[in-house]
Amino acid sequence: MPAMITFFPVGCGDMTLVELADADRTKILIDINIRQGEDCRDVAKDLRGLLEKDGKGRPFVHAFLMTHPDSDHIRGLETHFHLGAPADYPDDEKPEGEKRIFMREIWSSPLVYRRASAEHPLCSDAKAFNCEAKRRVQVNRDKKFVGVEEGDRILIMGADENGKTDDLSSILVKVDQTFTQVNKVNKAGYFTARLLAPLPKQATEDEEEKLRKNHSSVILNMQVGADAKTPDGCKFMVGGDAEVLIWQRLWGKHKNSKSVLEYDLLLAPHHCSWHSLSEDSWSKLREKAKVDPDARAALSVTRQGAVVVASSKPIKDDDKDPPCIRAKREYEAIVKDVNGAFHCVGEIPNEKNPEPLTFNVTGEGVQIAAKQDAPRRVAAVAASTTVPRGHG
Ligand SMILES: [Zn+2]
Repeated sequence: MPAMITFFPVGCGDMTLVELADADRTKILIDINIRQGEDCRDVAKDLRGLLEKDGKGRPFVHAFLMTHPDSDHIRGLETHFHLGAPADYPDDEKPEGEKRIFMREIWSSPLVYRRASAEHPLCSDAKAFNCEAKRRVQVNRDKKFVGVEEGDRILIMGADENGKTDDLSSILVKVDQTFTQVNKVNKAGYFTARLLAPLPKQATEDEEEKLRKNHSSVILNMQVGADAKTPDGCKFMVGGDAEVLIWQRLWGKHKNSKSVLEYDLLLAPHHCSWHSLSEDSWSKLREKAKVDPDARAALSVTRQGAVVVASSKPIKDDDKDPPCIRAKREYEAIVKDVNGAFHCVGEIPNEKNPEPLTFNVTGEGVQIAAKQDAPRRVAAVAASTTVPRGHG
């Protein structure tokens, strides 16, 4: 099976599952926004349908990345995921659908946390994730980073301030480093990621405040192999809610090495917000609002057939932001030159009942998976994990 990337319809929020083409079908979950309520799709059920179970019958992901601790990127963590020591997993006796999901490794950025919590109070799920990250770092320190088990593993995305992560080099990914390990296993050929942000702690409080106000987020550009023979399948860039100044800075830094920002698939930052492309207010200035050329350039390094996905509610021609119609038009213009496409998760197959949107990774980027592929895949997983019943 090819590698696959699935976007779940979570309104204005993010929830993405990257499934590698290796024999383990390694799964990397990026952000969650699992809402309750009758008008919300049951994305927890959708996600569970795509996960396998371990030897103890626990659903699991190999890695979970939180790009930044806003509620639309971490909602549902405490309800649906196991937090705490692996030995304390409490749900082994529960029915299938109620077992919390086990995160073998988590990817977390203390600097992003610091910036977000200085801006606004954190929600309970965000606090819980931070607490879990601290627990895992402590386990790593106690074990001197050797023999750390699944469920205790963590990768730190970006150095923290004041040397706080200096002793964590074996679990630290620095900005501009590439890495191929997922859950301590080298996935080179199937997965190589470069950490582009959070930009490091700034020299002045003024500069630091600007980054805080621009929704500092983990930004990764992942190269995902299509299959065992095609390591250069697609480049997939995700950047949480990072806004205009951050993309400006990234362009300043990488404009002479543009391949760092190149993509076949881009998750439009901040749910297709105008604020990732411009310093002007869309609702106040409408068509007079100006695009920032550097931020736009950073988000325009497309490969042939590049696709931009907005993880948002349906995009309307109105004052709203995000999602913003003008940002959509800008992304459409960006991909037009390379015969690409723009899709909004909240509109597929229709606005009333959006469904998870899955892309197959091919040798030339990505292609929307045929609708019948997804359920078939779930059936295959179910068949491999349930005990066959005897003929009646
Ligand atoms: Zn968001």
